[in-house]
Amino acid sequence: MFKADVATLFPDMCESVLSCSIVGRARKFGLVDVNVYNIRDYSLDKHKKVDDYPYGGGRGMLMQADPIYRCYDYVCFSRNSKPIVVYLSPKGVAFSQAKALEYSRCGQPLFLLCGHYEGVDQRLIDEIVDEEVSIGDYVVTGGELPALVILDAIIRLVPSVLSSEECFVLDSHFDGLLEYPQYTRPKVWHNVEVPDVLLSGHHENIRKWRLEKSLELTAKRRPDILDR
Ligand code: SAM
Repeated sequence: MFKADVATLFPDMCESVLSCSIVGRARKFGLVDVNVYNIRDYSLDKHKKVDDYPYGGGRGMLMQADPIYRCYDYVCFSRNSKPIVVYLSPKGVAFSQAKALEYSRCGQPLFLLCGHYEGVDQRLIDEIVDEEVSIGDYVVTGGELPALVILDAIIRLVPSVLSSEECFVLDSHFDGLLEYPQYTRPKVWHNVEVPDVLLSGHHENIRKWRLEKSLELTAKRRPDILDR
């Protein structure tokens, strides 16, 4: 079973998203085991402080190593195994559908560390982090949204979470291409008709049309994918 633990300063933010939709249902039916930990609970400070000023000066605060390490240690103990530790970071390698598939099948729990403020003490990263993963070349306020994005992308690929593999193998990026355009009822909307081929019932022609449209769209919007 896919297992993951999210370490965050904003557990409610994570729980609210992880309780909804496909991910919420997968958790409810025991298809995945995902827990959220509040790093603040692992601070030994009497005010539950988890951050401090950066050495060398500069604006902003940094998350201290110790509360995160104690949280990680607790999760290792309760899972009775060493997780793959992923630190969500704009300095990380770009997350991808291929990575989502790899994690969904990896058989080792993931420990997702959400940074905040200006980030995390480097010593903690050097000691426990296996991979730094970024959701794109921009900076958001904390690692919670990136962690939720990657968890969602992973969990929908876990066997039995979606009704069939077809639900994701035809998605954009699964086979490297962007998905073809899709249409539903009514047949005519605002004077625009659904392409005839989709109404023909001819499966081979529909398959060819979709592949052609996928290639066209990918060439237009993401020539870099075709180059690869
Ligand atoms: N000072 C950091 C830097 O320039 O690399 C950015 C800190 S950011 C305000 C706070 C936290 O948000 C980071 O520690 C990280 O966990 C998360 N974060 C921000 N942007 C991200 C991104 N593109 N991908 C993954 N995590 C991100």
